[in-house]
Amino acid sequence: MRKPIPYGRQSINDDDIKAVVETLKSDYLTQGPKIKEFEEKFAEYVGAEYAVAVNNATSALHLAATALGVKPGDKVIVTPMTFAASANCIRYCGGEVKFCDIDADTYLMDTKQLRKTLESSPKGTYKGIVVVDFAGYPHNLEELRKICDEYGLWIIEDACHAPGAWFIDSNGEIQKSGNGKYADISIFSFHPVKHIATGEGGMATTNQPELYKKLCHFRTHGITKDPSVLTKNDGGWYYEMQDLGYNYRITDFQAALGISQLNRADSGLKRRQEIAEKYDEAFRNIRDIKIPRREKDIFHAFHLYVIQVPDRKGLYDFLHENGIYAQVHYVPLHLMPYYQEQGNRPGDLPVVEDYYAHCLSLPMFPTLTDEEQDYVIAKVKEFIEK
Ligand SMILES: *Cc1c(COP(=O)(O)O)cnc(C)c1O
Repeated sequence: MRKPIPYGRQSINDDDIKAVVETLKSDYLTQGPKIKEFEEKFAEYVGAEYAVAVNNATSALHLAATALGVKPGDKVIVTPMTFAASANCIRYCGGEVKFCDIDADTYLMDTKQLRKTLESSPKGTYKGIVVVDFAGYPHNLEELRKICDEYGLWIIEDACHAPGAWFIDSNGEIQKSGNGKYADISIFSFHPVKHIATGEGGMATTNQPELYKKLCHFRTHGITKDPSVLTKNDGGWYYEMQDLGYNYRITDFQAALGISQLNRADSGLKRRQEIAEKYDEAFRNIRDIKIPRREKDIFHAFHLYVIQVPDRKGLYDFLHENGIYAQVHYVPLHLMPYYQEQGNRPGDLPVVEDYYAHCLSLPMFPTLTDEEQDYVIAKVKEFIEK
C-alpha cells in the first residue's frame, strides 16, 4: 500500500527543530525576543511597515475588524468563497455580512458585482470589504482601492493563501500581497496546511501606525503601560485596561519556528510553481478539466491547485479510494446554516454555487514528490477518460 497523499502538508526540517529547541531552552517561552524578530522579518518579507503576530489567523481577523471599529449593525461585504473565519470576524464584532459573488475564472470577489452592490444602496450603507486572495491568486488591490475610496470603505485582505504572491499595478510596480499599500490590514495564517507553519499562528500586517497600535493593544487585553496614555500613574508597576481586549498572543517557540520556516519560504513557493506547471501541462488539453487561471501580471502563490470537472463527487470518491485526499475548497459561506439564518439562500450567488458544484483541490505542497504527482495525474486522467 502506498502512503496516502494529502492535499496539503507542512514541511519540518532539522533547522526548524533546532530553532524550537533553542527557544525552549531559553528564558522565554512567550513574549520574548523571537516574536519581535518574526514580526520584523515577516513585515520585510511581504514589504509592509508593521506586522503583529498572533495565535491564529482567526484572531488576526477579529483584531483587524476590532481595530477598524466594526460595531453592531455595521454592514461589511465579504466573499463567500473562503474559510468561515473571513466572515465570522465581522460577526464577532456584531457586524452584518453581505456576500458578493465571485468571478467565474479567478474565483476572487467579482469587482463588477461589488460595484453593483454598492450602487444599489445609499452611500454609507457599507463600512468595508473582506476579500481573499483565493488559492494564492492575488487581488488587484489597486482597482479595489479605487472603488472603496469612492464609497469610503476600508479593506481587509485575507491573504492566508498568498504569502509571496504579487500583482503589477498601473505604474508597472510589483505589489506583494500584504504589503499594506492598498489594503488597510492584511491577514496571514501559519496553520500547517499553509505556506509557513507554526502549528497554530497568524499575522496581521499594515502600513498605518494607528491601526498597528490598536492591533497590538487588543492582542493583549486592551492593557497598556505607556505613560503617555495612562489616565494616572501610581508607580512603576502601574497599568491600565482601557479597552476590552483579548489574549491572542503567539508563543516564542512558535515564532522561532516561523522564522526558520520563513527562511525557506521562497524555495517552497518555487516548488509550488513547478507542481502547478506540471499539472497545467498534464490537464491543459483535456476538455473536461478546467485548470486555474494564470495571468502574466500576477504571481500566483498556489496554496491550492483547484480544478473543475463535470463529475466532482465521482472524482473525489475515486481519488480517495486510491489514497489521494483531494479536498473541496470551500462550501460557499452563504449556504452554511448559520449564514442562512441571517437571510441568505441557495440560488443567491449563482457563480460561486456553480464553482462549488465542480471544484476540487489536488495535492499541492512543496514536499510532494514527482512520483506522487505522477500518480495523482494518472488517477485523475484515468477517471476523466473512463
Ligand atoms: C486558514 C484560513 C483562515 C484561518 O486561519 P487559522 O490560522 O486557522 O485561524 C482564514 N482565512 C483563510 C482564507 C484561510 O485559508
